[in-house]
Amino acid sequence: MLTGIPASPGITIGKVYILEKEDFCILEYKIKEEEVEKEIKRFQEAVIQSKNQMKKIKKRVEKSMGMKEAYLFQSYLHLLEDPLLINKTIERIREERLNAEAALRKTFKELQLKFTSAKYELIRERFRDIEDIGGRILHNLLKKPTLTLSHLNEKIIVIAYDLAPSDTVSIQKEKILGFATDIGGRTSHTAIMARSLEIPAVVGLGDITQKIEPGSLVIIDGNEGKVIINPTPEQIKKYQRLQENFINYKKKLKVLKSLPPQTLDGREVGLAANIAGPQEVDLALRYGAEGVGLYRTEYLYMNRQNLPSEEEQLKTYKIVAQKSAPHSVIIRTLDLGGDKFLSHFPVPHEINPFMGWRAIRLCLEKVDIFKTQLRAILRAAYFGKVKIMYPMISGIEEVRKANEILSEVKEELEKEGLPFDRDIEVGAMIEVPSAAIIADLLAKEMDFFSLGTNDLIQYSLAVDRVNEKVAYLYQPLHPTILRLIDNIIKCAHRENIWVGACGEMAGDSLFALILLGLEVDEFSVAPTSLLEIKKLIRGIKWEETQEVASKLLKLSTSSEAREFAQRKLGRKIKNILRSDENENRQP
Ligand code: PEP
Ligand code: MG
Repeated sequence: MLTGIPASPGITIGKVYILEKEDFCILEYKIKEEEVEKEIKRFQEAVIQSKNQMKKIKKRVEKSMGMKEAYLFQSYLHLLEDPLLINKTIERIREERLNAEAALRKTFKELQLKFTSAKYELIRERFRDIEDIGGRILHNLLKKPTLTLSHLNEKIIVIAYDLAPSDTVSIQKEKILGFATDIGGRTSHTAIMARSLEIPAVVGLGDITQKIEPGSLVIIDGNEGKVIINPTPEQIKKYQRLQENFINYKKKLKVLKSLPPQTLDGREVGLAANIAGPQEVDLALRYGAEGVGLYRTEYLYMNRQNLPSEEEQLKTYKIVAQKSAPHSVIIRTLDLGGDKFLSHFPVPHEINPFMGWRAIRLCLEKVDIFKTQLRAILRAAYFGKVKIMYPMISGIEEVRKANEILSEVKEELEKEGLPFDRDIEVGAMIEVPSAAIIADLLAKEMDFFSLGTNDLIQYSLAVDRVNEKVAYLYQPLHPTILRLIDNIIKCAHRENIWVGACGEMAGDSLFALILLGLEVDEFSVAPTSLLEIKKLIRGIKWEETQEVASKLLKLSTSSEAREFAQRKLGRKIKNILRSDENENRQP
């Protein structure tokens, strides 16, 4: 049994197909000066050929799977024009007089170093896209036939070093039972694709490709992140049972899709989705999301060589707003810095980036960037129900300054005669302790709050959220956190504004119930967690969670709080998740 990262839930049993990692044998040699232009042309032709192949794949994907999956291939097409990859290689051929393959490989290595040393997993994983594209150009340079999985004609489990997204989409869902790969993380595109195709997958298994023979039988447990090679008959029986249970469980959850997130004693809360781009909206809606509670817009700015224009942003936000209507979409303004950076927008090196030039601080200084985004958001709001949210607010001045800029932008749009939503609601993420403590004052200036618990915990407890060495101190039930959240919500309600929770706490079954008891009004969670959270809300009395929350507020340590919450709610959660919808809602 191997253990990796659970990338897409579900259990599957089947025969293995090993997708061999291609080894390119690349020779490096010097070319003569008079051969330079010819070599560049050869490289450019390979790039054009790659573009044509990508366009074809994009079209096919659009037809068979929809716009959402095809969106990724548009970003591949952008990569094929990326100066860091293309111009740099051409420059190398010219200046170092290298053959095209070797020049490309060198550029590649350089990019690999940059990307893989990035702190943020999402950026590190985007290197896989560059690898996918680079591999394709190499293929075409070496005139190799392109490898696909489309010839498969029996149901199999794919085992690979890594799956390129182009491989993932060239297979039909009916043929693939599951995936398991040596590398990758939860946010790799393969994982994202597997989740949206709802195919069980485990990634980051280390060396599964070395441990398995083609054609052998395996079990993939995407819930626990386990892969069993050559299982015993008992194991097969056990997992068949688990598979059946899981299918039934999912079916049961699907029943909830259009039911309201309402507790047994009648408290109805909002339940929206966190998304990082328009490609995730369909998935969210499939799981019954009531709109988007957090749209992390920074991903629109990443993996590219320029800033997104107003028109591009408008187009993107408009898609999200229209798809989510009649529900609302909360667009968070650019939250760069900390651990999210742009290659084309250099931020000075900081010793303490999480406490440095981040999010709203950066936007208030780079007013042009901020204004462009605000214009696009205001204009997109004309086509749906859109709200603005400022990240990392630490005091009133920031809110006022941001709102001043927002007013200027509105005036400009008015003058230009462009349609927009003048009455757009504006909220603040409460994720910095200073904001949490003056929530009473802030509440008078905002239309809503959203609890960014990921950062709120990090800043309040002084625990770097990306440092595994101090992870044991990252305690959502620390008395400080509970008191802060309680204060934020009370202050907001006193001013008649609502409070959402969009940090990871909201998607965790135990913490979600505690937030419910603390009187959070809206939960915003990853699309795939939506139904589970809805089931929990529907299976419990609000009063019961309020009692637990108020007792928790009196405890003095995280461990006491954890133990108490588990004792009060742990078994209950298990029972609710196991139960049938009707069982819970009997009077
Ligand atoms: C948070 O801090 O809780 C949050 C939702 O924002 P992010 O994770 O994008 O920092
Ligand atoms: Mg945050």
